[in-house]
Amino acid sequence: MTLMNTYGLTEEQQMMREAVLDTLAQALPQENILGMDERKEFPEAAYQALAQSGFLALPFEEQYGGAQGSYRDLAVLMETLGYYYTGIAQGIMTTLIYAGSHVARFASEELKQKLIPEIIEGKTKLALAMSEPGTGSDVAGLSTSAVKADGGYVMNGSKVWITCAHVADYLVVVARTSKSESRHDGLTTFLVDAKAPGVTITPLNMLGRRTTHANEVHFENVFIPDGYELSEEGKAWPNLMKALGTERLALASISAGHSFKITEYARDYAKDRIQFDKPISDNQVIQHKLVDMWLKSETARQAIYRVADLLDGGEAAIEETSMAKIIATESNFEVANVGLQILGGAGYSTEYPMQMYFRDSRVGPIGGGTNEIQRNVLAKRMGL
Ligand SMILES: Cc1cc2nc3c(=O)[nH]c(=O)nc-3n(C[C@H](O)[C@H](O)[C@H](O)COP(=O)(O)OP(=O)(O)OC[C@H]3O[C@@H](n4cnc5c(N)ncnc54)[C@H](O)[C@@H]3O)c2cc1C
Repeated sequence: MTLMNTYGLTEEQQMMREAVLDTLAQALPQENILGMDERKEFPEAAYQALAQSGFLALPFEEQYGGAQGSYRDLAVLMETLGYYYTGIAQGIMTTLIYAGSHVARFASEELKQKLIPEIIEGKTKLALAMSEPGTGSDVAGLSTSAVKADGGYVMNGSKVWITCAHVADYLVVVARTSKSESRHDGLTTFLVDAKAPGVTITPLNMLGRRTTHANEVHFENVFIPDGYELSEEGKAWPNLMKALGTERLALASISAGHSFKITEYARDYAKDRIQFDKPISDNQVIQHKLVDMWLKSETARQAIYRVADLLDGGEAAIEETSMAKIIATESNFEVANVGLQILGGAGYSTEYPMQMYFRDSRVGPIGGGTNEIQRNVLAKRMGL
């Protein structure tokens, strides 16, 4: 029995959830996931199956072949993917939202007409390259440069922790095109061919989400033709801020779905595991741990749905988005930590998936703007 109820879902959203879970059950059986994690293998078959079933169309406009779904639809999709497996959720989210929202919102008409249908069909994947060795939280401090040249720009610099760059066809790169008085001016976003001469992508070993792992990306005199800008020259900052809200909603939705998966797994294990001649779930202390895990999952879910509804109503929802990101990602890690304790030695063993859930949940408070940065946003809004 799934604990993830259908509260607040339309009939279409319930059907989407069921269809996504059916598609994944066929293309990526649960028992294969742990091995893929060990091999750090991108879940390509699942990605393609979701594309073939049309789910990658959800956030894009109808005129480019998209389904023009609502933010609530997006939250349901991401929550469902995160519930089934965070790796496939991260893979889809990186192309569709992290990087894809820059293409969908800010690319030229010509680029949109070419790229969006390819993304929807699963033929083109993207990655977002913003963070650098010298700058993470302080995005405005980035130093990768793009200098105007004949017919385009020449890019030099390094990026780090770039999710899915190893499978991406294009990178959405934020670079400095000029120095200016204001740190937030002078940044431009570009679409860069990941196979262009001078681009080097090196996989990194990360703690979790190993099938969609992070990468180092180096640019050495990479030529970017005119027309591949995804912002006005020097004016990327407002675009980055607009895209970040959707990214945080998607991230939080994955964490909420993942929390339900962990709670169900721990519940089922506790009902089966016999100690002192009875299931460990007969102990009230275990029951209460499981109930608290469920409470955290449901609270996270309600927080993301609230953000989605506000965004669908045209609100900026800046505070609520930061709150939902903190609630969902911290709950996810707490739920995984308690889940691991419920499994005892099996929780700590690499033969069982719980340790993967624990590792996969840890990135939430770091990615998409750390939770300290989210608390800074909220502190400012409190007038502090
Ligand atoms: C698995 C993974 C995948 C990632 N994927 C991508 C990706 O696809 N694309 C991309 O561009 N980036 C990606 N990142 C990078 C991520 O966005 C950064 O790690 C994050 O923004 C933090 O930057 P940093 O690691 O440089 O930490 P730092 O900015 O150095 O921060 C270190 C610590 O100091 C705290 N801190 C910093 N400044 C402040 C402040 N003003 N107030 C309070 N606390 C502060 C931080 O919260 C953090 O706890 C990924 C990271 C990980 C781990």
